[in-house]
Amino acid sequence: MQPLRVYSVVPKLPAKLKPLWELAYNLLFSWNDDIASLFAQVDRKLWRECSGNPVGFLNRLPQKTLESLAEDEFFVERVGDLRHTLEVYLSRKTTSIPFPDRDGQPVVAYFSLEYGISACLPIYSGGLGILAGDHLKSASDLCVPLVGIGIAYQQGFFRQYLTADGWQQERYPIYDFEQMPLSLCKDEAGERIMVYVDLRGERVFAQIWKAQVGRVALYLLDTNVPENQPASRQITNRLYGGDLETRVRQEYLLGIGGIRALEALGLKPKVIHMNEGHSAFAGLERIANFMDKHKLSFEAAMELVASSSIFTTHTPVPAGNDRFPPDLIQLYFEDYAKRLGLAFKVLLALGREDPRNDSEHFCMPVLALKLSRFNNGVSKLHGVVSRKMWNRVWNQYPVEDVPIGAITNGVHVPTWVSQDMAALYDRYFGANWREDPDTGRVFAQTHLISDAELWRTHERLRERLVGYVRERLREQLLARGAKRMELQTAEEVLDPQALTIGFARRFATYKRANLLLSDRERLLKIMSEPQRPVQFVFAGKAHPHDNEGKKIIQELVQLCNSAQCRFNMVFLEDYDMEIASLLVQGVDVWLNTPRRPLEACGTSGMKAMCNGVLNYSTLDGWWAEAWRPDNTVGWAVGMGEEYEDGGYQDFVESQTLYNILENEIIPTFYDRGHHGSLPRNWIRKMKDSISQLAPLYNSHRMVEDYARIAYVPALENYNRLTRDDCAAAKDLASWRMDMMTKWSSLDIRNIVADDPEQLHVGDPVRVTAEVHLNGIRPQDVEVQIYAGHLDYEGKFAQRDTVIMRTMDTTADGWNLYVGEINPTEAGRFGFTVRILPHHPLLLDSHSLGLIRWAAAPA
Ligand SMILES: *Cc1c(COP(=O)(O)O)cnc(C)c1O
Repeated sequence: MQPLRVYSVVPKLPAKLKPLWELAYNLLFSWNDDIASLFAQVDRKLWRECSGNPVGFLNRLPQKTLESLAEDEFFVERVGDLRHTLEVYLSRKTTSIPFPDRDGQPVVAYFSLEYGISACLPIYSGGLGILAGDHLKSASDLCVPLVGIGIAYQQGFFRQYLTADGWQQERYPIYDFEQMPLSLCKDEAGERIMVYVDLRGERVFAQIWKAQVGRVALYLLDTNVPENQPASRQITNRLYGGDLETRVRQEYLLGIGGIRALEALGLKPKVIHMNEGHSAFAGLERIANFMDKHKLSFEAAMELVASSSIFTTHTPVPAGNDRFPPDLIQLYFEDYAKRLGLAFKVLLALGREDPRNDSEHFCMPVLALKLSRFNNGVSKLHGVVSRKMWNRVWNQYPVEDVPIGAITNGVHVPTWVSQDMAALYDRYFGANWREDPDTGRVFAQTHLISDAELWRTHERLRERLVGYVRERLREQLLARGAKRMELQTAEEVLDPQALTIGFARRFATYKRANLLLSDRERLLKIMSEPQRPVQFVFAGKAHPHDNEGKKIIQELVQLCNSAQCRFNMVFLEDYDMEIASLLVQGVDVWLNTPRRPLEACGTSGMKAMCNGVLNYSTLDGWWAEAWRPDNTVGWAVGMGEEYEDGGYQDFVESQTLYNILENEIIPTFYDRGHHGSLPRNWIRKMKDSISQLAPLYNSHRMVEDYARIAYVPALENYNRLTRDDCAAAKDLASWRMDMMTKWSSLDIRNIVADDPEQLHVGDPVRVTAEVHLNGIRPQDVEVQIYAGHLDYEGKFAQRDTVIMRTMDTTADGWNLYVGEINPTEAGRFGFTVRILPHHPLLLDSHSLGLIRWAAAPA
């Protein structure tokens, strides 16, 4: 029988406990252990059942419990103290990042399709979402004026369980936002604030939920409202569920609906940051708004929008980028193109690497690249890979000129560091280390921590992990209807003293979870050394359509279930932030084996690192820049080679994988000195790893980088370009049009360079060239010498550019340009000359796609 109507009945909190609501509705509890513990201590079992969700928890506490808590003076006092902590946190305004014109309004709107903030808010799938969550938290800690935009998924991301033979199954619980730390946005009259988007002629409405992440507000769009047709209510149903069209609808909602939501909320951020290409339609909506409000041309509005937008790409796997067939885009954007005053084909071209290729699909990262002047990958190596991958968008430019930089990801240390380790940091670093942006100074003090204390803390965390694994495994087996004998196994798996290796991540094939299994005999031998046991804990989900990934899980699970491995190899179902936390805090080694260069960055290893866990990984993503060749901070699988033959690569790397385990990792861990006490060399590595890597691979550093390199410059651009009714934006756009028409008439001749018999390192070489500007003003161009060392094929191996000066004109009206180059190394050296457009307000001279080379670059 279905009830006729359903009510949410909210408990009556006694007056003295009212502040609990404030504590419950601010996600600060996800990185403030004191607040989380306050709830947990009331009823640990219920707290776990609620996945650490304080709103659901309070709603489920019996009225009697609440009343007796209100009588408990100590409890009431603690509630008061923590409310004070929250107030102090929220009122602090000091920041290390000098934003101009701060008026309390958010300056930056951050867009992401997923956010991983807490296990109790399941609107994330993996690394991308966790990164977005950590970004918001650091923005909050550092007082960066930022707001987040995302989607409230009724069913979130799928939950994983396994059949008895290890095949992944998916389930989709329905979440009740009323029972979560979310509040519905309402206007002064108490009405829901709604926005709409027009999807194929249908007006689709969305309400907005707010998640308060410390000082930062995150707004989540939700189309599950009675005003909508049943199909449209489903748009925000699942994260990465549904077909291609659902994805277009979600991304339309996120980008275009997101900009409208900001407006409906009365927020006026001047800068947007697109976390991955999913939200790139936001740029189109901003352009349309500027055209409407300031009567700008499309070009002027686009200049303005691009100059104040940041785009972060995360996907080095071409297939991982959203590409939509043109006819699908047509269904959604034919009318929208009219609003922008564009022929539909011109709009399509904005999402194409080659604008003239009519068969090319519409690619979201390409749209984002074209609508942003600050583009970056998420590690140094990923920057290189991205420049190569998107070279076609700037096809006249050598790959090193592709304007995509790199800001390496980081993790939010207060979220990921265990409570025990945090207590050590409190004691040795002082209590402000959580919000102190000077992480270099903070973590340099790691060496002060006593060896014994650090090791004991770490051992306690391993023991806690073992307890947790046993409990989870028992629940897993119970749910599967296992027999009592099997349940008993669960009580005995893992040894709290043994070297414990963790491996948990999405089971995408490039992550090669099965590399470890390639030589089972050898693996079993390694694990079963009685004096030096080794054990493994695995977790991770495969995408519901990824059968290859599911097969790898199955292979792994079957090994875990086998008689030889039952006690020292465990697979935990339903990897999420809770499992991730316990694993990265409790294992000794964090293993990662992606196929280089397909891991953009990887962040779970950083979470492990800040807990003193040592990384062992292929040199991909962040580890390619973090690892030190002397192995002081952890170990590398291979030396960062890239192979043509994947099978051969797997073979070579699996051999290395076992070798280092056998010869270095296991002996170091079990080297306990004379009295079988402390593994001093291991502890030294733990400290080196924390002190050298924590200052770099944390999200405070990352958000500061974004603020310094991107947000503040983008804000200044915005202010400059919008002043005097957008005069500069209009100027820039008309200058740009002018350059586009005149550019082809530029010419270069008579390039002359000094020609000594012999050139020594450091000897300057003078270069002159004559340029015919043909009506273009000299200040509109930059003439450059493009010079550098050549590789064995005669191509530039590295290059510098030198700006040439003009003083003279020739008799027939050509401008004479002069410059000087200095070869700094011996070897073969070459140069050429090129011309780029130049304008003081133009952030990126490559964005026009105009360049003139004196000769084709080698
Ligand atoms: C950190 C995290 C990830 C990302 O880990 P990678 O190392 O980037 O693969 C994925 N899922 C969860 C639950 C996480 O906590």
